[in-house]
Amino acid sequence: MKIAILPGDGIGPEVMREALKVLEVVEKKTGKTFEKIFGHIGGEAIDKFGDPLPEETRRICMEADAIFLGSVGGPKWDNLPPEKRPEIGGLLALRKMLNLYANIRPIKVYRSLVSISPLKERVIEAGVDLVTVRELSYGVYYGKPRGIDEEKGFDTMIYDRKTVEYIARTAFEIARNRRKKVTSVDKANVLYSSMLWRKVVSEVAEDYPDVELSHMYVDNAAMQLILRPSQFDVILTTNMFGDILSDESAALPGSLGLLPSASFGDKNLYEPAGGSAPDIAGKNVANPIAQILSLAMMLEFSFGMVDEARKIEKAVEMVIEEGYRTRDIAEDPEKAVSTSQMGDLICKKLEEIW
Ligand code: NAD
Repeated sequence: MKIAILPGDGIGPEVMREALKVLEVVEKKTGKTFEKIFGHIGGEAIDKFGDPLPEETRRICMEADAIFLGSVGGPKWDNLPPEKRPEIGGLLALRKMLNLYANIRPIKVYRSLVSISPLKERVIEAGVDLVTVRELSYGVYYGKPRGIDEEKGFDTMIYDRKTVEYIARTAFEIARNRRKKVTSVDKANVLYSSMLWRKVVSEVAEDYPDVELSHMYVDNAAMQLILRPSQFDVILTTNMFGDILSDESAALPGSLGLLPSASFGDKNLYEPAGGSAPDIAGKNVANPIAQILSLAMMLEFSFGMVDEARKIEKAVEMVIEEGYRTRDIAEDPEKAVSTSQMGDLICKKLEEIW
């Protein structure tokens, strides 16, 4: 079990440190050990090697079973040419190299954090615990022909059966370990690519009789996420619709510091949904929960350690319910705990509940 660990820039190394403490607890409790290989990416890799994704990092990633990333970027490197910047030359290049086809973004609103959600209490109290499964490598962002001249710009939204089948299976498999509900989001009343999408998703559903499938138009889904987010378990959708809906749902918990993500491809990549947060980097105030929950996703999806992942999620939830807050989620910043204190609290809770 080999993990490529790329802490990156900004708060990346700080929150990564806490996630690795949690991994240590898992190792101690299970007796399993992970081989951890550290690599450089983003701005810090530019500073050391003049390259945001050095050859050595590429090699480490291709030899690993999973890639665990902090975050990249910061104002120091913003004036470089686009392809040399941490985001494009580092992270986007890594994503491309891994042939990622699905992005998985779980969103959970903790009961005791209802007050920091932008939604009303009565909406959140019904429980928000959903995951978006977004197709990542086809659709209108990549379809050809595409182009622009002085008079027109055009794109092509295209989906083939194989792509839809693959992403649909990913969503149904994830639903099996959750509340067994898939909502497939499309625009099949208008778009031909969505008509095929809906047909193929319905066919795949026949292989998963234990999972309930429903279909929803994307305009309605955008509205339902605000009106009644508790109705969703797994949202399965296309590249562009997923881009928009996953950011919309990311607003529900009230802080990016709570949101993990996973992307599936030749190798799976696990990283927080937020960025390098240069405004708070180096101050030991960042929320490590997004990184810690990304670790839980890695254990579940790359190493089949579902129980261990659930234990980490439970420990995080208990620490939050006990009232501990980093600054981003604290009503009173004076009472906030630091990044490392939050990590220690979660480790301690995990040991207790194991
Ligand atoms: P950001 O996500 O870094 O920050 C947005 C806001 O959320 C900030 O106020 C930040 O303090 C807060 N935040 C984010 N994560 C947090 C955490 N764990 N705990 C507490 N607060 C947190 O987005 P940005 O400011 O637009 O971008 C900053 C840099 O990050 C840029 O260079 C950008 O290109 C890069 N970026 C990287 C990634 C990535 O590595 N995956 C993603 C997005 C942005």
